Amino acid sequence: MTLDLDDISFDQHHIWHPYTSMIDPLPAYPVASASGVRLTLANGTELIDGMSSWWSTIHGYNHPRLNQAAKDQIDSMSHVMFGGLTHQPAVDLSRRLVEMTPEGLEKVFLCDSGSVSVEVAIKMAIQYWHAKGKAEKNRLVTIRNGYHGDTFGAMAVCDPVNGMHELFTGVLPKHLFAPAPQCGFNAPWDPNDIAELEQLIEENHQHLAALILEPIVQGAGGMRFYSPEYLKRARQLCDQHQLLLIADEIATGFGRSGKLFACEHANITPDILCLGKALTGGYMTLAATLTNTGVAETISSGGAGCFMHGPTFMANPLACAVACASLELLESEPWKPRIDAIEAQLKTQLNPCQTLEQVADVRVLGAIGVVELKQPVQMAEIQQAFVEAGVWVRPFGKLVYVMPPYVISPEDLTTLTSAIFEVIKKH
Ligand SMILES: *Cc1c(COP(=O)(O)O)cnc(C)c1O
Repeated sequence: MTLDLDDISFDQHHIWHPYTSMIDPLPAYPVASASGVRLTLANGTELIDGMSSWWSTIHGYNHPRLNQAAKDQIDSMSHVMFGGLTHQPAVDLSRRLVEMTPEGLEKVFLCDSGSVSVEVAIKMAIQYWHAKGKAEKNRLVTIRNGYHGDTFGAMAVCDPVNGMHELFTGVLPKHLFAPAPQCGFNAPWDPNDIAELEQLIEENHQHLAALILEPIVQGAGGMRFYSPEYLKRARQLCDQHQLLLIADEIATGFGRSGKLFACEHANITPDILCLGKALTGGYMTLAATLTNTGVAETISSGGAGCFMHGPTFMANPLACAVACASLELLESEPWKPRIDAIEAQLKTQLNPCQTLEQVADVRVLGAIGVVELKQPVQMAEIQQAFVEAGVWVRPFGKLVYVMPPYVISPEDLTTLTSAIFEVIKKH
């Protein structure tokens, strides 16, 4: 099980990691196993996980109930095509998703990854207007600092700067961008905050299929939290000017922001909802795009007579079975008090970072803690410092942030926040 030096060198020379160079890349840390909130490296070092493997392992690693669900499903059927066939795990999972998501989202498309669920959402919006005889409504509007995935359709609605639009000019479709919301989650609402989005929509609605955004929490595009009033108003603008609202809850879904879904902070229902990341508790890749009956039936009444998408591994039974177990676990456990406790502790323990000269801002919402620095981090150095402090925290740019598994103990969370304070202080 343990990787030797040869393996690590092979990895470095032959395997791409996310957003890395193939010229002299930093070596990756070899993980031998993971359990609960701990990663065990090949050399025996244990790290407390602050990342939930990018928002996904909400119940911690190696969970007996999720392991059992995967084993049981493997013994009956790992995969079967979804064209013309169906199975219990897909039905059970979809039933749960319809029940737990905001009212009205009743049609479920199960797909491979978050990015694909965003592609599906965008296609749904375009096919919807096409079926209504308004094929000219085929562009999207979004807000800056967004992140929706790495495939082309998704990338085109990511923040134009972070999302490297310049590199792909001429390839990416051109969509409309409003400034990112400025009013923070708890800040007093200023109607001017949404004035530019309002104007963009008023002037361009004849060509707009949908507004796509991450509700309340902007994740990889800046780790920003914004006012529920903004989201409420955005919903109204979509209704007023006939745009669909696509809520990308791939990061925020399943409790992370303190509500089961971040849309609930504003009591709104989107027309299309994207889910992923924590859906399987981090066991395997699976995502879902939900929509309402009106959108689904309109698409189906269009020229194509169907929705034009169908991946090979659509509704993979193994992934669906684990997702079902993960959602059952979530609903049977006191996730809300746990998130509230993590939020309170993150606030108390990260706030002292404000006193450090390197720090520009500290913000916490639900089980998400962010320390924004004045300068981008030196990745190699800071990564090693975190590992030496016994924690797994992976900053990007100016952002040092954590979103630990919901099952983290107060003691382990203290280790995590102390490491953040100490490491930033020394860098
Ligand atoms: C991670 C993420 C995606 C992309 O999901 P992948 O599974 O990485 O393709 C899309 N939107 C948001 C908000 C995300 O956080």
